[in-house]
Amino acid sequence: MSVVQKNSELSKWYLPGIFGGLVITGKHLLKNLFNKKSMVTLNYPEEKYEYSPRFKGNHVLTVKKDGSLRCTACMLCATNCPAECITITASEHPDPSVEKYPISYEIDVLRCVFCGFCEEACPVDAIRMGPEWQTPGLNGAEFNYGIQRLAYRGQLKGGIPSVVDDQERHKAGI
Ligand code: SF4
Ligand code: SF4
Repeated sequence: MSVVQKNSELSKWYLPGIFGGLVITGKHLLKNLFNKKSMVTLNYPEEKYEYSPRFKGNHVLTVKKDGSLRCTACMLCATNCPAECITITASEHPDPSVEKYPISYEIDVLRCVFCGFCEEACPVDAIRMGPEWQTPGLNGAEFNYGIQRLAYRGQLKGGIPSVVDDQERHKAGI
């Protein structure tokens, strides 16, 4: 049987609670003013938190040595994506040694849960999740990232090369 405690006389007055809260807030204010290093908050955007190199942030589509997309439009990433936020349109490549490639590759990052399944599913290191995590935008359409943004945005300086080259890929049968 649960015991219901009766409120004390003091707790019926709200002023003691307000003053108690002000005392706690004042104590934290003074502590942080005189010992800024112990503050747990950051002055964003001047200060930014450094995440681990394994952090799964914004996606990157890697490129081959010639700067073209590494992606072979196999659809494994889209099939494994739990949020169903990857849309790929595949086409035959003009080079007969390349089976197909994506003419369109889009990720709706507002639906993405940054789980990393796409990166793990890719057999040719064509998609990675990098350390960037800031995704500003003014409307919904700006969060639908296409090839230009995923592979050639300014921060990538012309594209991140894949570590899997064609010879290795063909040897592995992929
Ligand atoms: S990180 Fe996860 S949710 Fe986001 S695109 Fe990749 S598989 Fe989909
Ligand atoms: S799994 Fe890799 S190669 Fe296949 S479609 Fe996705 S990014 Fe392209």
